[in-house]
Amino acid sequence: MMIRDLFKEKKPVISFEIFPPKKNYPIESIYETIESLRDLNPDFISVTYGAGGSSKNRTVEIASTIKNKFNVEALAHLTCVSSTKSEIDRVLKELKDNNIENILAMRGDIPSDADFDFPNPLQFKYANDLICRINSNDNFSIGAACYPEGHIEATCKTDDLKHLKNKVDSSVDFLITQMFFDNELFYNFMEKIDLMGIKVPVTAGIMPVLNINQMNRIIQLSGCSIPPKFQRILNKYEHNPEALKEAGTAYAIDQIIDLLSWGIDGIHIYTMNKPDTTKEIMNSISNIRKFLTEDKVI
Ligand code: FAD
Repeated sequence: MMIRDLFKEKKPVISFEIFPPKKNYPIESIYETIESLRDLNPDFISVTYGAGGSSKNRTVEIASTIKNKFNVEALAHLTCVSSTKSEIDRVLKELKDNNIENILAMRGDIPSDADFDFPNPLQFKYANDLICRINSNDNFSIGAACYPEGHIEATCKTDDLKHLKNKVDSSVDFLITQMFFDNELFYNFMEKIDLMGIKVPVTAGIMPVLNINQMNRIIQLSGCSIPPKFQRILNKYEHNPEALKEAGTAYAIDQIIDLLSWGIDGIHIYTMNKPDTTKEIMNSISNIRKFLTEDKVI
């Protein structure tokens, strides 16, 4: 099913994100995770592409397994930073051949390695260029990334929003946000994009923080801000992994409950391949989810 149709049918749309196992682990090592996540009844599961050095070649295979073996809708991430135009065309064909109908189209993070040559003439420069290629090639439902606090490279937030509007105007069906820890920043962002005429569904990317190293990596990569309430939690429990995990999960649940009450189109949980934490979150919102879905509060 196309994810654009899913958003027309229900609210909230609940989705999970996983990443492929590292190259030296067998691909089957992710199956147990997918099975546990499937049991939580998500509307779709997405698979990252080449993020954080993991193997991009496994994304199509895992997305295909999600869809064709576990019967859950799949969203394959695709980036242009680490692939040439012809590689992109090959991946699009593989996705089509595997019955995958949904792509999250992004540029990808540019590696800090000084020898990394990007963009070169063989590549697409921005997510928008990739989106135009996907549209001209085949019939996929296309999602894109958005940044409630602005993209980390953006020197001007107004221009960043204009670039987002251009992306959406190139036939993007839905947006998934980068993680954020302050819902008020997200609500401000939603007001701004609404005024700009961005009307596609926006699903909120929520990351349960489970350890301090993960948190430091997130801040470094995304530049997202930490509100005082969350900073107090990090300060208090940073040296007690169990307590931090408990508090990080509770914080994510608190954020999600607020977003659902606000009327969010969807929640996208960055699972970090940890089904237990995702299960805890889903159990905590099971009655809310049932209430909202049954009442079709669209
Ligand atoms: P773009 O939309 O191309 O924007 C990148 C920067 O360029 C922005 O600062 C923008 O303002 C600027 N820009 C855009 N168009 C123009 C223009 N015409 N002129 C000048 N400037 C312009 N990364 C991975 O590698 N693999 C993944 O699987 C992955 N999954 C993700 C999932 C989500 C939900 C999110 C939010 C991010 C994900 N990322 C992933 C990270 C993402 O690839 C990075 O944030 C990347 O740096 C930007 O990608 P983008 O598609 O938003 O880029």
